[in-house]
Formats: sequence, C-alpha cells, structure tokens
Amino acid sequence: MCEPSTPRRTDGQAPFDRGLGEIRAGRRTVLTAAASGLAFSTLAGLDPAVAAGPATRKRAYVLVVDGCRPEEIDSGLTPHLLALREGGVHHPRATSMPVMETIPNHTMMMTGVRPDRSGVPANAVYDRELGDVRTLDQPSDLRFPTVIERLNRRGLRTGTVLSKEYLYGIFGERATHRWEPFPIVPISGHAPDEFTMRATLDMVETFDPHLVFVNLGDVDRLGHTDLTGPTTLEVARRLALVNTDRLVGDFVAELKSSGRWEHSIVIVLADHSMDWSYPDRIVSLQGPLSEDPFLAGRFAIADNGGADLVYWTGPRAQRDKAVRRIRRIAADVPGVLKAWDRRADWLRLGPESGDVVVFCQAGWRFSDPDVFSNPIPGNHGHPATRAIPFFIGGGHRSVTPGKVSPRHARTTDVAPTVGAFFGLKPPRGGYDGRSRL
Ligand SMILES: [Zn+2]
Repeated sequence: MCEPSTPRRTDGQAPFDRGLGEIRAGRRTVLTAAASGLAFSTLAGLDPAVAAGPATRKRAYVLVVDGCRPEEIDSGLTPHLLALREGGVHHPRATSMPVMETIPNHTMMMTGVRPDRSGVPANAVYDRELGDVRTLDQPSDLRFPTVIERLNRRGLRTGTVLSKEYLYGIFGERATHRWEPFPIVPISGHAPDEFTMRATLDMVETFDPHLVFVNLGDVDRLGHTDLTGPTTLEVARRLALVNTDRLVGDFVAELKSSGRWEHSIVIVLADHSMDWSYPDRIVSLQGPLSEDPFLAGRFAIADNGGADLVYWTGPRAQRDKAVRRIRRIAADVPGVLKAWDRRADWLRLGPESGDVVVFCQAGWRFSDPDVFSNPIPGNHGHPATRAIPFFIGGGHRSVTPGKVSPRHARTTDVAPTVGAFFGLKPPRGGYDGRSRL
C-alpha cells in the first residue's frame, strides 16, 4: 500500500507539520523562488564555501517514476523517457528489492545498502515499543548515511524534491536544499507531478545542486486510487504516463538549454512496479492465524499491500515454534505465494520487518487486519512487482549512448553510481549495490 494510513509514533508528528515547525523555529531558512512562489528550505548556518560548492560542473539527477512498469516505457506513451533511455545506458534486467515498497526502495537508492543495514525494510512496520503498526516516515528511522549526506560532507550541494509526505519525512533535513510542499499538498500526502517538476526546475535554477533526488508520484498514485474499474484505471494510468513523460521532456530540455546537459547524468528508475488485484482476490491472514490457539492474541501484522509482515509478540523462547506455525498456516491461505522466515539469508530485511514475511501471488493483495483494511486494487510489495525501468541518460562523457547492459541492476545501485560519478569512496562496510555507469 502507498497510502500513509498507519498511526504515527506517539512522539512523532505528521512529516509536513514537523517540517513547518522546524521552519517556524528558525532551524531552517525559507527561501521562496520568485517566479513560481514555491518554497524551499536551506540548511540554516550553511557554510558559504559549501553554498558556492567546489569547482566541479558535474551534476547528477535521479528521477524516480514511482510505480512505473518497464514495458510502459515501450508503450508509445512516453517518447521523452524512451529517447532518454535510448540515448543512454539501459538496464533491461533491473529490479526493485524486497519489500517492493516505496520507502525502502527510495532509502536503498540513496544509501546503496539493504534494509538490514539501513533499518528501513517496508513502508509499514509493527513498532514493538509503540505497540502499534506505523509508517517509517521519521528521519531517525533511516540509520545508514545516504549519498546525500556524504556529498554534503565533501562540500557538494544536494537537493530533495519528494512528492510524498512519508518520503519527505524520512529523508528529513539531510539535503542542503529541500522542497517544502506543505502549502500546496492536499490531504492525500502527495503532490502532483506538475508541482514536483516545477519545484525541480526551480531548485536547479536557483541553487544548482550537484545532486537532485526527485520522486514523481502520479503514475503510482493513479495506479492505486482508482476504484471504478479496469477501463477507467487504464485511462487514468495512460494519462499519468503521458503527463509525467512530458514533464521529464521539459526537464531534459531545460538541462540542454542551460548548458548543464553535457556535465550531467540523469538516472531514471522506478521504486517498484504495479500489480492489480480483483475484488475477490484478497488475502487476510488475521483470521487464519487467530484461529490457532497457540498464536491467538500473540502476533501483529503490518500490511504492505503485496507483502504481510508478521510479528510474534509472545515469549521470545517460543519464537521458533511460532515462526513454524505462522509459515505453515499462511502457506495454506489462497493467494499466498510464499511465507518466509525473515531470517532467510537472501531477504536481508532486518528485525524491524518482524518474524515471517509473506508474499502474495500476482493478481492478489493483502488486506489486514480485515478484508476492508486495504480497498486499493493496485498494489506492490510482492515479487510480481519486482521489474522496474532503469536507465542512465545525460550528456556527460561517462554515459555511453545506446549501451544495453546484460547485468542485473537494482535500486541499491543508485548511490554507488552517484558516488562513483563524483569520486566518493564507498561508505564504511561498502555498498550492497554497484555503480551502473
Ligand atoms: Zn512507490
């Protein structure tokens, strides 16, 4: 699920409210771009040397087309994205990483490491301290240094233009310059791409950051929220693709006309793809697990659309027995693809993701704690939503036009690519991904 419907931590606030509070408290300086009226905040007390930046003309832009499927770039609806792909390095074998949700994959992009090192395995987790399910939207939830902070330490300027409230929340004040979408964002927690791209262009023109990280949320949002039937859903999705593509075309045109293009790389990818379920293809694990006398009242579920994270809340000594029972019961529920012991080596999700990770089959969705909890037909998080577009365009000489890579690219490869481009050393312990230039 992509909707921020879970409770906040008791000591936390909604991310936009918290940002506004920081600005009012004078912790950040608000700068308003004259032309558009959009607001940006800049780290207070920024060293003038950092504001000027070292003498490199290199620029890296990361554009996330949230929820885009790779074949949609070939659909004829996205000519600008296609041109960017064909003029750059294309990775046709690219995937999102578990759990195939928005927040963990954006943090994997910017850290280059898997969730067992970053602390961010999913959008929604059961917080054992809080005793409730919540969204991972607090800056302190992300425990590994991002390439944003590491570039800042080198004296390079960075910018984040994040269209979703929870992304704005978890990336917090890390970037030198941050778009403050609070004056215009409706209750949905998402800003339309028209505003997001306007903010991106304004940020580039006003502050010219070396790295700008952008989330374009429309393609995903229109995949999730249409409830009126497949035909309308398809039309809405097509319109979103056409519109987002046009905005990416504007962005590339601006880089070219401003002379930035030949110094730039433009990494385009999605955080996950999208799968649609029929109303009768819903998996709810709360009931079957509650019917087991050993488990009843001693587990919690964090629903992530295509993945359910199940947490044993009983005595630690009985955990192994609980994991075996949860896996056995879940595996028998129609629509379940597989129930994994979270400690399985390949998952690398860390303890925040609970004890059992259950994926649904293609065409299904989870709805927990009851069948009404998740009314959204479009979902991701499960293996059916792994495939993503991933390509690196731009006019910098490190980009080989027309190159098609046979290698498996992943969302964890973004930070290593950006880091290598700017000559940054890998972080302590190294990256889990690798540079894809
Ligand atoms: Zn997403």
